[in-house]
Amino acid sequence: MITRRQQNAARKKAAEMIRAAGVRITDTEAAGIEVVDFGLSHLEKEGVQVLTLVQTERISIKVLVLFADQSEPEHWHPPVGEDPGKEETVRVVSGTVYFYIPGENTFNRGFIVAGKEDCYTMRNEIVMKPGDQITLQPGEKHWFQAHSEGAVMYSFSTIARDALDQFTDPGIERITKIVDE
Ligand code: ZN
Repeated sequence: MITRRQQNAARKKAAEMIRAAGVRITDTEAAGIEVVDFGLSHLEKEGVQVLTLVQTERISIKVLVLFADQSEPEHWHPPVGEDPGKEETVRVVSGTVYFYIPGENTFNRGFIVAGKEDCYTMRNEIVMKPGDQITLQPGEKHWFQAHSEGAVMYSFSTIARDALDQFTDPGIERITKIVDE
């Protein structure tokens, strides 16, 4: 749950970061940035800001914004019917991103949200800078975190069905509740 005020502030900050990264967006797009707290009610620690540029029955193109030290919780994209699940490429536009995928434990520069060791189990660390990108296969667990300056990324994928994404943290609800104060 986030308040309307938090939603508006996060949208404004995300739009500024996107524009500062050199990505042109309209005011209408800026006003439509989705602020996601994953139902955890501490947006600044775990959350993501999402601007959807393209969403069709086959592909999805989004701009993702992480604020400084904000983590997108560990998740994977499950099969849906005949579809093996979402394949996703994340490309960094600005900032430094610590990306975690299956493999050897090389955890070094990022941090685990306090008390959430069981919810962030992938510890193979990839340090990503502007121009770096990573492609995630369907079903591959991943989570990522922005370093101190925050980060702007593109996400190119086959159709996104965000509501069906699976998370390691059982406390997560993908739909963010907004409350008016
Ligand atoms: Zn993902």
